[in-house]
Amino acid sequence: MRTCPICGSPAKKIFDKEFNVSCGDYFEGYRLYTDNIGPFSLHACGLCDFAWYPEFDAWSDSDFLARIYNDDYHLCDPPFEYERPASLAMWLNSFLGDRTLLDFGGGEGTLATMLRSQGKLATVYDPYYGNTTLPAGTYDIVTAFEVMEHIPDQDWLIGSLLASCSDAGVLIFSSLLRTEIDDQDWWYASPRNGHCCFHSTQSLKMLMEKHGLHVHSLSDELHIAARTIGSLDRYKGLNAPRISGQPKFRFVQPWSAMAPI
Ligand SMILES: [Zn+2]
Repeated sequence: MRTCPICGSPAKKIFDKEFNVSCGDYFEGYRLYTDNIGPFSLHACGLCDFAWYPEFDAWSDSDFLARIYNDDYHLCDPPFEYERPASLAMWLNSFLGDRTLLDFGGGEGTLATMLRSQGKLATVYDPYYGNTTLPAGTYDIVTAFEVMEHIPDQDWLIGSLLASCSDAGVLIFSSLLRTEIDDQDWWYASPRNGHCCFHSTQSLKMLMEKHGLHVHSLSDELHIAARTIGSLDRYKGLNAPRISGQPKFRFVQPWSAMAPI
């Protein structure tokens, strides 16, 4: 039996899913990566509802680079390259002012570049995309958009984000919460994207409390965390831009035939 990496309670398998199924499949209506590699098993905690693919736990950075973040990665997440950073840059620009920002896991740095072009103090760190040196010092805002679901070691992730966040600073991060439990499939839980960890409202709160953080969700996918309630309160009134779209297809024959939703 597996135990939940967030709260230590017993977990059980929900479903198996072919590794090469990607989130993009659910928007296009067909398999973007046609080879079947073998199934990964999504497990979920009976207490906090955290879900994860244990198969990723043993992967090294070079495994992720070879099998996920390779030349074909852009196929499974088209908004990754321009659309998502452009939308987030517009949103951040509306309240950033002269605060400093580190975009953790920010890919090739598109978001940080867009913000700098608007006169903002933004930089990027992403070891998978050549920005391998973590910038020194601490920042007023540390962002991690669509990063959390890619990192098997959630404690390492939060510790790393906090190490770059000033005492009065905030973490702003996105990851779609499990608002519904489906024992057949869930489009966001697609291994080919490198999606390995999925929070519920409860597991997110438990993880943050473990690290001494208060958390507030602006939507089911956009979250803010801070060491003090006072720091958090300054951001609670923000509108949340949409980050994930709504899938248009579902599998009717795993993992080959799809039909419109
Ligand atoms: Zn749990």
